[in-house]
Amino acid sequence: MSDTIISVKNLTKQYQAEQAGGVKDISFEINRGDVVAIIGESGSGKSTLLKSIYGLLKTDEGEIFFENEKVKGPDEQLIPGHKQMKMVTQDFSLNIYAKVYDNIASQLSNTDLKTKAEKTLQIMEHLRILPLQNKKIIELSGGEQQRVAIAKAMVADTKVLLLDEPFSQVDALLKNQLRADIKRVASETGVTVILVSHDPADGLFLADQLLIIKEGKLLQTGKPSDIYQNPKHIYTAQILGNAVVLPRLDAEKLGLKTYKEFVVFYPEWAEMSNSWNSRRYEVKDVYYKGFYDELLLERNGVSVRALQLNKGVHKKNDSVQLNISRFLEF
Ligand code: ADP
Ligand code: MG
Repeated sequence: MSDTIISVKNLTKQYQAEQAGGVKDISFEINRGDVVAIIGESGSGKSTLLKSIYGLLKTDEGEIFFENEKVKGPDEQLIPGHKQMKMVTQDFSLNIYAKVYDNIASQLSNTDLKTKAEKTLQIMEHLRILPLQNKKIIELSGGEQQRVAIAKAMVADTKVLLLDEPFSQVDALLKNQLRADIKRVASETGVTVILVSHDPADGLFLADQLLIIKEGKLLQTGKPSDIYQNPKHIYTAQILGNAVVLPRLDAEKLGLKTYKEFVVFYPEWAEMSNSWNSRRYEVKDVYYKGFYDELLLERNGVSVRALQLNKGVHKKNDSVQLNISRFLEF
């Protein structure tokens, strides 16, 4: 049975600025132990949502519950924030001249020194930073500092870890590793992780639950694979999968019939084929994408994109047969 640790009910927070940003009427629940990813463009309200969950912002409407208890806002308690939640922001808030070990251990009380040492070493092991324990923070790379910041946030019996853009300071290779580590640490320790990112690749890979935010509104939430396969908005298909979006008339020129306004499909739903009913397209351009190519194709003046997994087979100006196996209608 799923066990709800956080519920957000009709949360609204509007800033008193000329261009009122913030979040509008957002509701969702989070299961204990899940990794939750909040995805949206810059300025869509992700940090506002995260800070509200943590109790750092005075909200306009709605409520947030942590284990069925209402999270207090900054005007309702002396020290804003929640004891069993910890937020890691982009600046890490580490003491840069102190050692890694001491930065982490500083979160624990001195009443039981043995436990303090044990817990510090244990969390360092979880985050694979034990070899760094005697280094100073200034001697570390951005990715290493990120791990220390997460360890520091987790060491004192934290139940919910809030990460604001955890991958922004990390290069592509370390990013993959850090993603996998967050997932592993969550399952090893049972901590619930809520992370925010503007890059959907960060969330799709590791999240149990995904939230898509646009202009302060929650467009859709659910399992990443469900949202990807059945997006409720065109925007979601675009941000998650770089979908091809065609107005009805263009779609009809390609033989795709709809009574709705738009036809939408992911490039991988367009397959090169030799079957009798597939249509001919001209290859306008080939984009290098690593282990596959993306082809820019055209038929009757309409452009679409498709994947070519057998790299290099079709080249610019070739004529190819394409079968669009599935499309969505909006
Ligand atoms: P994100 O984290 O998705 O980039 P934010 O939650 O930081 O977005 O901001 C959402 C919107 O609210 C933006 O338009 C931003 O300019 C505005 N905003 C954020 N914080 C404040 C603030 N303290 N005062 C006024 N406007 C703000
Ligand atoms: Mg932000």
